[in-house]
Amino acid sequence: VPSVEGTGNRLRVGVMGGTFDPIHHGHLVAASEVASVFKLDEVIFVPTGEPWQKANRKVSAAEHRYLMTVIATAANPRFTVSRVDIDRPGPTFTIDTLRDLKRMRPQADLFFITGADAMAQIMSWKDNDELWDLAHFVGVTRPGHVLDDMGRSDVSLLEVPAMAISSTDCRTRVQEQNPVWYLVPDGVVQYIAKYGLYVQPDGNSAGRV
Ligand code: ATP
Ligand code: MG
Repeated sequence: VPSVEGTGNRLRVGVMGGTFDPIHHGHLVAASEVASVFKLDEVIFVPTGEPWQKANRKVSAAEHRYLMTVIATAANPRFTVSRVDIDRPGPTFTIDTLRDLKRMRPQADLFFITGADAMAQIMSWKDNDELWDLAHFVGVTRPGHVLDDMGRSDVSLLEVPAMAISSTDCRTRVQEQNPVWYLVPDGVVQYIAKYGLYVQPDGNSAGRV
């Protein structure tokens, strides 16, 4: 298991998976804090594929979510965005994300970053031992959710600045014509307006990429 302190040669790469519909400052603060505490060289943001419904809602086109993620992370030299999940056909499973990234970065130790809510889900997945071999898991605090390592010693828990922001709330705000300024990066506010995202409750956007 990789240590909190880097030991030198191997690259330390964070992986921040998410729907990012839209990406918001909760995601960015979490990634930044883990990068700092775990001395990461890079954090790769990985927007999920778009094949099926998330909680009975149409997820925005992968290309929109990818581009918003690029806009939000562009200014940070340590943040990058990967297309592995959006370019892979079918639903996204974290095991595939990690296998692909490991293949692309064989020299790196991977740190998979998840918020408290997603952590609980991962723990409930098939106890796929390979998952734990591919990456070290870092669970971060999230307002409204309890963070629990469920007794696993190979999971790190980290308290990050509390950002009571969710993509669901951002979408609702746009639909109800309330501002999302300062909840998401400025460029993302403008991207959402430019393409008319989240105006329709079913997730259909007026604009095309
Ligand atoms: P939605 O409301 O659509 O589910 P979300 O805000 O939960 O969106 P996701 O794209 O589902 O965002 O989350 C991606 C990852 O970021 C998950 O691991 C999630 O737990 C984490 N995350 C999201 N928002 C926060 C936050 N405010 N603080 C800490 N972690 C967060
Ligand atoms: Mg979520």
